[in-house]
Amino acid sequence: MRDARPAENTEPERGRALRRLRDQVAAEVAGGTPPPCVVDPEGGWTSADLDAAERAASACHRCPLLDLCRGYVADWPESAGVWGGLTASDRRAVERLKARSAPS
Ligand code: SF4
Repeated sequence: MRDARPAENTEPERGRALRRLRDQVAAEVAGGTPPPCVVDPEGGWTSADLDAAERAASACHRCPLLDLCRGYVADWPESAGVWGGLTASDRRAVERLKARSAPS
């Protein structure tokens, strides 16, 4: 999917995608179902400690925005932090598997 994006529009598109995700986070907060990363911002979502990040990633599975958040980070890779129930290490492993299974 990333390869289809026009290179000159990459950063504005990323910004719009992130804004859509943040708008949905705000809607969940307003609706009384805040995502776990909002309820406990110190819960490991931005931690460099792998154990803390894995606990945060596990908590993501209670989030109403899990699929949206995971879709965002699949389309717009983030090098750090927990997104959509995946640590940065998980996402690198997924990328390696994708690269290995891509037709050569
Ligand atoms: S999936 Fe995880 S990182 Fe994404 S909004 Fe929900 S709790 Fe936050």
